[in-house]
Amino acid sequence: MPPENPPPSLPTVIVGGGLAGLATAVGLKQAQSSPAPKIILLESRPRWGGRATSIVDQTTGETIDNCQHVGMGCCTNFIHFCETVGVAHHFRRERALTFIGPKQESSRFAAGPWPAPLHLAGAFAGLKHLSWKDRWSLAWGLKRLAKSRPRDEDPTTFADWLTQNGQSPRVQERFWNVVLVSALSETLDRINLAAARKVFVDGFLAHRAAWEVHIPTAPLGDLYGSSVQTWLTSHGVDTRLSTGVQQIELTEGRVSGVLLRSGEHLPATRVVLAVPAQRVADLLPEAARSLPEFAQLNRLEWAPISSAHFWFDREAIPLPHAALVGYRSQWLFNRTALHAPASTPGAPAPDSGWSYQVVISASRDLAGEDRDSVLDEILAELTRIWPAVAQAKLLHRRLITEHAAALSMLPGVEAIRPPQRTSVPGLYLAGDYTRTGWPSTMEGAVRSGYLAAQALQQDTHPNSSVQLLQPDLPTSLWARLLLGL
Ligand SMILES: Cc1cc2nc3c(=O)[nH]c(=O)nc-3n(C[C@H](O)[C@H](O)[C@H](O)COP(=O)(O)OP(=O)(O)OC[C@H]3O[C@@H](n4cnc5c(N)ncnc54)[C@H](O)[C@@H]3O)c2cc1C
Repeated sequence: MPPENPPPSLPTVIVGGGLAGLATAVGLKQAQSSPAPKIILLESRPRWGGRATSIVDQTTGETIDNCQHVGMGCCTNFIHFCETVGVAHHFRRERALTFIGPKQESSRFAAGPWPAPLHLAGAFAGLKHLSWKDRWSLAWGLKRLAKSRPRDEDPTTFADWLTQNGQSPRVQERFWNVVLVSALSETLDRINLAAARKVFVDGFLAHRAAWEVHIPTAPLGDLYGSSVQTWLTSHGVDTRLSTGVQQIELTEGRVSGVLLRSGEHLPATRVVLAVPAQRVADLLPEAARSLPEFAQLNRLEWAPISSAHFWFDREAIPLPHAALVGYRSQWLFNRTALHAPASTPGAPAPDSGWSYQVVISASRDLAGEDRDSVLDEILAELTRIWPAVAQAKLLHRRLITEHAAALSMLPGVEAIRPPQRTSVPGLYLAGDYTRTGWPSTMEGAVRSGYLAAQALQQDTHPNSSVQLLQPDLPTSLWARLLLGL
């Protein structure tokens, strides 16, 4: 039943200042025409960005990200958000990657001159850690996957599909798992077929620029903190940090305001709840909690991501980044070089040292392990690949694990993910876990914010044709002809 439309006089409150909440505010500001209700954005922590954030490392005094975050060329809404708030120039667009295989074989991965989907054929064929048989099998598997039309409710896991489609354990481990564990933060046996297909179709086959990796050259805390706050404030949004919400208030079944943890009441006509899925039920009054769209949120499962941070007295690894295949370490990022693009190999290390980050997604097996042993193992892997690491003096190291980092894209998950417009009049949801058609990523979070703002705007102005969601990259003619995309 569509929500009824009270006059939009009281403020609109957004609860949660992660990317979803920030994108909701940006989307609403873009959709609104004056006079419009005031927008209040509330965040319980003293910083913006939610899971995409930075912390100060007490030993080095450096601002480091909780974990390296990257986008891709196919993240059209995330790119639009960054352009809108003026932070897009803080991203490097990488058109070449390096894969390091189990025997330290290094392969450069870059697009050839051909249109999609053939642009990466040479790059796939050049992966030295795969045999020729593996490469043929992979090409065949990619084509089968592109031509498949999985339904959201298909119970097949991607691991099962790969085995059914002749992909050997070696190709699964050395190719499919490498791409998907980075893109979806999950292992192949915990990924549904439609989600896996989306990564390869949208990210690698449909458009030439889709696979390019967008890497921040500044701390996430600066990008989604000070820069976005400046944009929001200058557009009249009332932004409040360290302001936790205790409860959403309903009167006669529709939203009437929020109760802050401080005890203050904020009256509101509409509320967008942009908190993690695990927090939603706690913030709702008892009567709303049992509604199926909220009650089933506890069935969502989450995957952990860990990042190991190392500081050396010099530049020990000359690459800006590398994907590691056949190691516990999955991706390496040369943080100092990425954040200071002018730095050249051999340049002196900054006072705090030269810093690197190793990312391990779906890091469940780290849980019971001793931190130092994990860090020792990662360091040993880096030294095996780049012997110069042994010559560098290790100044400091730390391991950070975010336990509920990304939504597990298990078979059946789409039926649990709620839409942004809820059945409670005046209440909307935003967040990477909501139904966006995307996995829980920065793109998914921004999409959810734009979709929530769009739904809210349409409910407030039923004749409005506002379209905040950005179009996907167009599918190339050859991808349509060859793969039927
Ligand atoms: C380690 C790690 C690595 C990742 N790597 C990538 C990557 O490389 N690429 C990528 O695209 N994505 C990556 N992600 C995923 C990405 O960070 C998330 O999908 C995205 O940031 C989620 O945004 P969100 O706004 O939906 O949720 P959140 O970021 O969780 O934001 C929710 C906000 O609500 C606030 N809140 C909670 N309760 C209250 C309350 N009661 N009152 C007020 N505020 C409240 C929280 O403090 C938080 O700020 C990674 C995530 C992690 C953790």
